[in-house]
Amino acid sequence: MTSPLWRPAYIGLGSNLDEPQEQIRRGVNHLEELPQSVVVLRSGLYRSAPLGPHDQPDFVNGVIAIMTELSPQELLSYLQAIEMKHGRDRREERWGPRTIDLDLLAYSAMRLSSDDLTLPHPGIANRNFVLLPWCEITPHYRVPGLATIAQLARLVDINNPQIKRLN
Ligand code: ATP
Ligand code: CA
Ligand code: CA
Ligand code: CA
Repeated sequence: MTSPLWRPAYIGLGSNLDEPQEQIRRGVNHLEELPQSVVVLRSGLYRSAPLGPHDQPDFVNGVIAIMTELSPQELLSYLQAIEMKHGRDRREERWGPRTIDLDLLAYSAMRLSSDDLTLPHPGIANRNFVLLPWCEITPHYRVPGLATIAQLARLVDINNPQIKRLN
């Protein structure tokens, strides 16, 4: 049997319901309990205005890096299981309010497009609430098919949505 390889994966966390900072803290704790995986880096947290419908609370966002032996599909299933533990309602509208959102931003050098998983995550390049925290932890990581995090962060509109680093 061939043993799986350790690969880096980047996960974006977001919350705007039921004490968002506490949701993110719990989310990171759950990520630390992922099998065959280790959390290696965590960004600071940012508060930002909602991307979609504006009649909802601000979001708190962060990015973490893990090393994992899980496949991207396995990882996505675990992320969705964690969202369920946080009482995430899968019927909610896209970009609507949620207790926690865990996006698989990128997985090693992989590019992939299937019904339930696109890698890298298609929203990366125009989301300051992803790029600013990500740039704190791995500025030199090259997003497959795009550019480095630092290059992308320089190009993004840092005011849209309005964003502020927490403490
Ligand atoms: P966005 O994806 O634009 O950030 P969202 O996070 O609100 O919006 P969700 O409702 O959380 O979207 O997810 C919709 C679907 O996106 C999920 O059911 C999942 O199968 C799919 N998906 C595709 N690629 C990814 C990815 N890289 N990470 C997480 N989910 C993904
Ligand atoms: Ca949704
Ligand atoms: Ca998302
Ligand atoms: Ca999501």
